[in-house]
Amino acid sequence: MELSDRQEQIIEIVKKDGPITGENIADRLNLTRATLRPDLAILTMAGFLDARPRVGYFFTGKTGTELLTEKVKKFKVKEFQSIPVVVTENVSVYDAITTMFLEDVGTLFVTNNHSLLVGVLSRKDLIRASMGKQDLSEIPVHIIMTRMPNITVCEKEDLLIEAAQQLIEKQIDSLPVVIKKEEGLEVVGRITKTNMTKVLVNLVRDDL
Ligand code: ADP
Repeated sequence: MELSDRQEQIIEIVKKDGPITGENIADRLNLTRATLRPDLAILTMAGFLDARPRVGYFFTGKTGTELLTEKVKKFKVKEFQSIPVVVTENVSVYDAITTMFLEDVGTLFVTNNHSLLVGVLSRKDLIRASMGKQDLSEIPVHIIMTRMPNITVCEKEDLLIEAAQQLIEKQIDSLPVVIKKEEGLEVVGRITKTNMTKVLVNLVRDDL
């Protein structure tokens, strides 16, 4: 985050002479305690300073990058997941393509009649299936999908950064967010590269 000159000055004072009370910091800057209050609140919330009652402010020793890393490492899948777009395994490739356009997504998840995950359809899977001369409304998607158990999934309590690592390692665009049940996997969400891009933008926006 971008700190103001005054906030930088406060950090320098606390670094050098902390623990130090808000009153004393205000005196040093020739300001009132009330004027300083928002700056101290920002610096404490952002993690640069810590405050102990009756002792005062002290410097946490953490750099901006360390604080950012700590923040990102706490993000969970459930905070950023989107709604999944699902088709059943017997719909045709033609209908799956239509769904992909209508829902404006790049990946469809495929479920069986019990709503359990059985496969994934990406854009290229559908393009590949469209290259022959077959009638696309006659081919069910279960013929062409990537199928279980080869599906990489995540759960809503997983760390977002681990989901991001999976996207990179497996070279895929999205992960289904699932609830693991005895019968199989129930699809409850989706994490995509777009979600990851939004995280990046939000991190910067929070700072503005
Ligand atoms: P595209 O095909 O548009 O490049 P992806 O990179 O997501 O999209 O998909 C590449 C291949 O990986 C496809 O065959 C797809 O079925 C498969 N795939 C996509 N997502 C997953 C996943 N979560 N687990 C396993 N395989 C996947």
